Amino acid sequence: MDLGIKGKRGLVCAASKGLGRGCAMALAEAGVDLVINARGAEALEATAADLRKFGVKVTAVAADITTDAGRDKVLAAAGVVDILVTNAGGPPPGVWSDWTREDFIKALDANMLTPIALMKALLPGMIDRGWGRVINITSQSVKAPIAQLGLSNAARTGLTGYVAGTARQVAPFGVTINNLLPGIHATDRADALDKAVVAQKGISIEAARTEREATIPARRYGTPAEFGAACAFLCSQHSGFIVGQNILLDGGATNATL
Ligand code: NAP
Repeated sequence: MDLGIKGKRGLVCAASKGLGRGCAMALAEAGVDLVINARGAEALEATAADLRKFGVKVTAVAADITTDAGRDKVLAAAGVVDILVTNAGGPPPGVWSDWTREDFIKALDANMLTPIALMKALLPGMIDRGWGRVINITSQSVKAPIAQLGLSNAARTGLTGYVAGTARQVAPFGVTINNLLPGIHATDRADALDKAVVAQKGISIEAARTEREATIPARRYGTPAEFGAACAFLCSQHSGFIVGQNILLDGGATNATL
């Protein structure tokens, strides 16, 4: 399927690895010129080199997207943006009774206020041009809480509320905002979560993974490539009637009718 977005300009945040990288790869394959970001320059440059193999223009900006200075640097390099994919590392796991105000502020900054600041900066240009796509990478924890990820549950639900209202205000101008909700995907983040189970239960990493896979109807972890393909479709010309949705990619793990 031709996604109809060849020559558009995309910004994919936190894109050197994992799900952000998967989104960047799928958008590059669709012919989107990209600005990509992550803190570490080495993995970011390696991803940029892989993206350029699709024949698109790629600018890599090493910066912490959760800081004002980092966002300013990324936005200055990005210039005109038609497609925005927001993403950042997720908050650490823990226990509800341990989290401090500072822990919450950090999580809200990274996973709620950063995507909001990026949308605030880039939506006006999209509205002026009459076309735009925003995808926020959130989490399945928005639909069903994950006990040890309370910081994530809280921050991402806040973002979801903001998107629900804002998506309907920008849709009249040809701009759509949707959220992608990953369940467990085979990335460094999944490894970190599995290692926490290893430490907690004293089992091997393989056993921790097998245990988690057994809870997923698809009986496996998702891949960054299939996540990226879903993202690219939502960024395509075909998705203009999909507005303010929260789309689960979780292999059926969330046991819900709707
Ligand atoms: P990942 O494999 O650990 O990759 C994270 C990427 O984000 C890396 O490129 C990392 O590069 C970059 N990054 C992290 N913090 C950043 C920051 N402050 N500024 C700029 N770049 C940053 O993680 P992932 O699995 O792709 O997860 C992506 C998001 O989805 C996270 O918020 C995660 O919590 C959420 N999620 C993931 C899963 C899953 O199973 N994988 C499930 C639910 C939700 P640097 O470290 O070099 O900055």
